Amino acid sequence: MTQPEPPEPQTQPQSPTEGDARWYKDGLCFSCTACGNCCKSNGDYSHVYITPPEIQILAAFLDMGEKDFREKHIKETDGWSTLDMPGPQCEFLEDSGLCSVYEARPRQCRTWPFWEENLKPGVWQGPMKDICPGLDTGPHHSADQVDAIARANEEWYESNGGLD
Ligand code: SF4
Ligand code: SF4
Repeated sequence: MTQPEPPEPQTQPQSPTEGDARWYKDGLCFSCTACGNCCKSNGDYSHVYITPPEIQILAAFLDMGEKDFREKHIKETDGWSTLDMPGPQCEFLEDSGLCSVYEARPRQCRTWPFWEENLKPGVWQGPMKDICPGLDTGPHHSADQVDAIARANEEWYESNGGLD
């Protein structure tokens, strides 16, 4: 009985990142310093999107009925629901820079800064860097981990639509 032929050694081992064109292919670091910048409004633009299931969770967290919560905290724009920011910052941002509804905060807040639009070339090191002092500090996230967060985020909004 002959021994089976050993497999041919790979002359060009394939690495998962070989040929990876992502500018962040070596991963990204992030650690929140609780400066609160990402919870502040940008002029008239209220940017925290929130889906119907998240509205229910947040309303319950605040022990409010959904209708009352919507009237007090939600703005409808172009078919999307966002947290209303009549002032310069989110109503749930404390002076300490912490979020008063942290456990029930919307997905958008949970997944910052790993959003698809933030991962575009030039955005992370440009306007994002101006806003968030936590970028490029703290724990390392591999490129695949970053992409998984961003992709799950997109899928969440696609499946929930932010629409009633
Ligand atoms: S801008 Fe960055 S560092 Fe500041 S609160 Fe937001 S995530 Fe944290
Ligand atoms: S819900 Fe919390 S984390 Fe989200 S924008 Fe408001 S204060 Fe910031």
